[in-house]
Amino acid sequence: MDQSDLLERARRRSSDPTDPLEILTAAIALSTELSSEADILLDQAVRDAREAGASWNVIGERFGFSKQAARKRFTPPFAGRHLANRRKKRDASCSFCRTPPGPRVHMVHGEGGRICDKCVALAGEIVADLAKRR
Ligand SMILES: [Zn+2]
Repeated sequence: MDQSDLLERARRRSSDPTDPLEILTAAIALSTELSSEADILLDQAVRDAREAGASWNVIGERFGFSKQAARKRFTPPFAGRHLANRRKKRDASCSFCRTPPGPRVHMVHGEGGRICDKCVALAGEIVADLAKRR
């Protein structure tokens, strides 16, 4: 699927295929769906590779990041299966918005907590806004 196919899909979905802002609105919705599909694809492929015996090290190499990063990025969906109780899940939730980990939630782990992808994006916007005002 190339770029123009995707744009055509967005155009067909938009309420007015001649209005660039309506196409943008449809493109945003489509993009969210595609990234969810991409997440599901990667989670499944990683799960399959793990079940086939691939180490986190080898999986991390394929992504171009470290074993620790691979484990952190992909552990929540696997860990979810083995969690004995909800407390652990709550402990693994975003320290800012309390979103629990899941296949569509990417967490960045730090020493004293973790932050989900949405909070990272929001924090990025806030910092960018502050930088502009200086
Ligand atoms: Zn969050």
